[in-house]
Amino acid sequence: MSFVGKTAVVTGSNSGIGLGVARELARAGANVVLNSFTDRAEDHALAKSLASEFGVTVRYIAADMSKGADCRRLIADAGTCDILVNNAGIQFVAPIDDFPTEKWDAIIAINLSSAFHTTAAALPAMRKRGWGRVVNIASAHGLTASPFKSAYVAAKHGIVGFTKVTALETAGKGVTCNAVCPGYVLTPLVEAQIPDTMKEYGMDRETVIREVMLARQPSKEFATVEQLGGTVNFLCSDAAAQITGTTISVDGGWTAL
Ligand code: NAD
Repeated sequence: MSFVGKTAVVTGSNSGIGLGVARELARAGANVVLNSFTDRAEDHALAKSLASEFGVTVRYIAADMSKGADCRRLIADAGTCDILVNNAGIQFVAPIDDFPTEKWDAIIAINLSSAFHTTAAALPAMRKRGWGRVVNIASAHGLTASPFKSAYVAAKHGIVGFTKVTALETAGKGVTCNAVCPGYVLTPLVEAQIPDTMKEYGMDRETVIREVMLARQPSKEFATVEQLGGTVNFLCSDAAAQITGTTISVDGGWTAL
C-alpha cells in the first residue's frame, strides 16, 4: 500500500486515534497535515518528528473544529487534500436531564458539524482530480447506544448518516466515503471518561474498565490506534475503491452482540 504523492488531512491528530491514523498514513508515504485547536511548540515539534521518522512532509495547522470557518480554512490552508480523515471528537457523560447545553452544542459541533464543513470544502477538488477518500471516525456509538452519552451517540449516528449521503453524492467519481466504528481504544478521551463513569456507577477504575467499558467488547481487549490506522489505510487503498457509504467496525465484536 503506497500513498506517495497523496496529501492526507487528519482532524484532531495531535493525540490518540488521530495521531495513530496520521502515523500509519505517513508510514505508507502520504504527506500529512496534523491538526488540533492548540498552537503550541510541541504540536509543531510532533509534525517535525513524524516527518523525519517517515521521510514525508508533515505540517501542523491549528484550527478549531468547533467553528465552521476554521474547518473550511484548514482544508484551504492544506492546499491539497486527497485523503480527509474526520477524527476530532470530544465526550461528555451525564444523564439527559442534567446534560449541560453548552456540552451538547460542543459535541455536535466538533463530532458532527466539523465533518460537514471539511467535507464540503474538500469534495470539489477531489471530484476534479477523480480521486479522493473521506474516512469518518465514528464509533460503536454510531450503531448502538449507551446511557448518559446522548450528545455523543446522536453525533455519531449523525456522522454515519452523513457518510452515506457523502458516498451517494460522490459515487462514480473516484471518491469514496466510509465510517470507521471503533469500540473502546485506550486514548486520552477514554481515560477522561473513567472518573465520571466511576462516579455514575459507583465503581473503582478497574471495575469500570472491566464491567462497563469492556463488558460490551466480547474480545475483552481495547482496540489500538495502530489497528485503527491500518483500517483507515485499507479504506484509502485501491482494494477499497468500491467500498463506499458503509461502516467498518473495529470493536472486538461489540456490535455483533
Ligand atoms: P483524544 O482525546 O485522544 O483525541 C481527540 C483529538 O481531537 C485530539 O487531538 C484533540 O486535540 C482533538 N480535538 C478536540 N477538540 C478539538 C477541536 N475543537 N478542534 C480540533 N481538534 C480538537 O480522543 P480519541 O479517543 O483519539 O478520539 C478520536 C476520535 O475517535 C473521536 O472522534 C472519538 O469520538 C472517536 N472514538 C474514540 C474511541 C475510543 O475508545 N477512544 C472509540 C470510538 C470512537
